[in-house]
Amino acid sequence: MNSVFHHLLRPITMLKRLLISGVVSGFLALSAQAATVSVSNYPMFLLSEAVTEGTPSANRILQAGDVGHHGSVSPSDMKAIKDSKFVVWFGPALENSLTGSLQNAPNAIAMFDFDAFNRYPLRDVKGAPIEGTMDPHIWLDPENAKAITRALAVIHSHANPEYTSTYQANVKNFAERMDKTVADVQQSSQTVRPYWVYHDAYQYIEKATHIKLAGSLSPDHHISPKASQLRWLNENRPTNQMCMVNQGTVSKGLLAKLQPVKTTIQVEDMSSSKDFVSGWQTMAQQINQCITS
Ligand SMILES: [Zn+2]
Repeated sequence: MNSVFHHLLRPITMLKRLLISGVVSGFLALSAQAATVSVSNYPMFLLSEAVTEGTPSANRILQAGDVGHHGSVSPSDMKAIKDSKFVVWFGPALENSLTGSLQNAPNAIAMFDFDAFNRYPLRDVKGAPIEGTMDPHIWLDPENAKAITRALAVIHSHANPEYTSTYQANVKNFAERMDKTVADVQQSSQTVRPYWVYHDAYQYIEKATHIKLAGSLSPDHHISPKASQLRWLNENRPTNQMCMVNQGTVSKGLLAKLQPVKTTIQVEDMSSSKDFVSGWQTMAQQINQCITS
């Protein structure tokens, strides 16, 4: 059995279970015109785009830059959710703003329900794992990204079966491109190097890019760091020159307290990219440059 097929089995089983339970069967009985699949946020959209290349795109619910941690959905978002055959999201642990609309929606499929991804616990600002939690930023792990495309291909195939062979070919192509990119990045940075982060959103890229967290400024990018945490970072800096990865621009006053420090801006939802693999590669390369220069 080839590996693509093997990895498709589990999501298919999940979907079949949903179908048997009657949860989505009503939607499958709808008319035969091209069915709309909606996806929650930008990283899910990029992965969906990789799957649907050459066929109609999915509809994205959240705005670029809004991964779903905060906020609420608009009436037009609610309508898009209702009008979709399937709505694919990660789940309440990530898109908190969609939970009210999607948690009990009969057409919603949460990726976190699939038993198919590498998962790590959240970490405190000193980088220690917090027991009983899950870091929801799973898409930055290349193996998870590939698994998400496989699950999306199953979902898109149920919605629009006429494109099944295209979806499958695209998934295979995505895996090959992702694997090659990871190999290239690892070739250029072979030792594991420490970094700081404002909000701990990049844990899933660490293994593939050979980097290791040495502490965060704050548990959330909307919360200012505490003076005690700035002191802790300075007292525990693993190398003199550090790199801090941020979601946006960090104030000069704050950076002055952590010198010598370089920064790189990496949006957690990858909305600065049009393509998942090249966006992932750029993120890995820019973080590596920040750490090594
Ligand atoms: Zn985040």
